Amino acid sequence: MTLDVAASAPVPQPGEALIRPLRVPLTEADLAAAAGQTEFAGVLGSDFVGVVEGVHPVSGPEAQAWVGKRVVGSPLIPCGACDLCRRGLSPHCQQRRVLGLWKQDGALADLFTLPIANLVEVPQTLEDDAASFANLVGACVHASRVTRLEGKTYVTILGDGAFALVAAQVMAKLNTSTRVLGTHNAKFSLCERGGIRHRHVSEVGRRHDQDVVVETSGEPAMLEFATHLCRPRGKVVVCGGAGPVPMEALTQRARQLDLTAIASQEIEVLGASGGSAREGLDALAGRGVDVSVLVSRRVRLAEGLRALSLAKDPESLRVLVEP
Ligand SMILES: [Zn+2]
Repeated sequence: MTLDVAASAPVPQPGEALIRPLRVPLTEADLAAAAGQTEFAGVLGSDFVGVVEGVHPVSGPEAQAWVGKRVVGSPLIPCGACDLCRRGLSPHCQQRRVLGLWKQDGALADLFTLPIANLVEVPQTLEDDAASFANLVGACVHASRVTRLEGKTYVTILGDGAFALVAAQVMAKLNTSTRVLGTHNAKFSLCERGGIRHRHVSEVGRRHDQDVVVETSGEPAMLEFATHLCRPRGKVVVCGGAGPVPMEALTQRARQLDLTAIASQEIEVLGASGGSAREGLDALAGRGVDVSVLVSRRVRLAEGLRALSLAKDPESLRVLVEP
């Protein structure tokens, strides 16, 4: 995988837009691809806010109207023709391409292409930095909906990455007994700014007393830990992991886990993945979520490899790459 390998500008195909990125936040999925956990060999960068520079030359006026607009976009490009796509399950399409992660060059370049159908216009009132987190916030809103928090008393979010800290903000609005269990003390101050309770994961016993445990770290051992925190007939929601990359793209990660508590405690295990960039923009435009605390560093595109090494720092939340 590479950064800005495109020697010449990519050419938008019918239905596609040519986009100039303004901000590219490096995600966990980008880092996994950079670390060789997938077989992707193209330009990285799965998330962005950018400006539409052009569309396919024979596009109609509807497509032409996108030129000059500031946009964010879903990285998922489903095939549109398979059984899953026809059944309304296109985010799970097995033939999908994923911007900067699978069979589609990404946003860490001067210009890149994406289907117009993936784009959402950014409201003028929203700054570039905040807009670049639309997919992340949208994913947290989606996870919150899947979890159906209303009426649940004790909610624990496992992990202290960007997803966990935004999910905590979204879920704490629905449930005042939401806490974050993490491993990096430096990140706890970010919880404090949001008034969200937090503790180090080692300080918590396996008490089977939480109504809902949301696992965001993607670590298999944390899923096992989640089953020991969850009350009988409670709910474990798994949000972390490989992100939008299809299973076929992943290398094997064998691991022995003890998941017997799922049966003995009759725990319901759910998955949540993806979400809507538009819902993320709505939450951000309504100032219901504060993402300003997530920007750990800013790096120029020309320093792309340095950005990756900074983003790998466990104390880092999001590194923003700028043109
Ligand atoms: Zn499909």
